Amino acid sequence: MLKLFQVKAVILDWAGTAVDHGSLAPVAALKRVFAENGVEISAAEARRDMGLLKKDHIRAIAGYDRVAGEWSRVHGRAPEESDVDRIFREFLPKQAEILEEFSRPIEGIPEAVARWRAAGLRIGSTTGYTRALLQLVIPGAARLGYSPDASVTPEDAGAGRPAPFMCYRNAIELGVYPLWAYVKIGDTPSDIAEGRNAGMWTIGITRTGNEVGLSREEFENLTPEARESAERKAAERLRSAGADYIAASAAECDPIFEEIDGRLASGERPA
Ligand SMILES: [Mg+2]
Repeated sequence: MLKLFQVKAVILDWAGTAVDHGSLAPVAALKRVFAENGVEISAAEARRDMGLLKKDHIRAIAGYDRVAGEWSRVHGRAPEESDVDRIFREFLPKQAEILEEFSRPIEGIPEAVARWRAAGLRIGSTTGYTRALLQLVIPGAARLGYSPDASVTPEDAGAGRPAPFMCYRNAIELGVYPLWAYVKIGDTPSDIAEGRNAGMWTIGITRTGNEVGLSREEFENLTPEARESAERKAAERLRSAGADYIAASAAECDPIFEEIDGRLASGERPA
């Protein structure tokens, strides 16, 4: 049984960490809205800045040289803020169409959260989704067994990642402090930056997340060498963003919590 004395709370990202194995749903929705605006984007382009507030993410994609060039070829001018506004408005109904993919908990997450709660942890969450987008995801995830104690979007906190304010807002809603007793878990470099900026321990997620970017079936169909290589590359990206620890899935973090608990007990604090 998991026993913790120092670690008090966990903050989980949503897509690719708690739900939506591979963070596939936002990639599909982003590809569709750009295609409907005459510009095809690749999955890699859709993933590069994943984790940012969705409107900031759309603006970043529209600004990539290749995408902006293609946009100019199709529309006769470079993409403007009004285009970002429109694509962002079109994103919400796209998400609603594929809601189940957005909402399905990653295997093992409901059980892990039950173990963590039994060990006394509170469960917070942050995201790059707007409140309207997350409100679509929360009930579906709850029906399928995942329901954090607090859910904060960039709008609720005044800014998205890499700012730490969503983490601060979670701390207020959960009523738990200090921040060094928190572990932030996420699958993108912006998740790690957010956790570090908040003064929390950070765990980067490889196998189920955006950096590997595959469904569970797709991942399992890879050769062992290809799996190892995909996880290693994801781990490198997350480590260079400053992750304290790496795990294949958030459901496999219990031994890391125990290690952090021991480090806190000996007086260590997150870097
Ligand atoms: Mg994510």
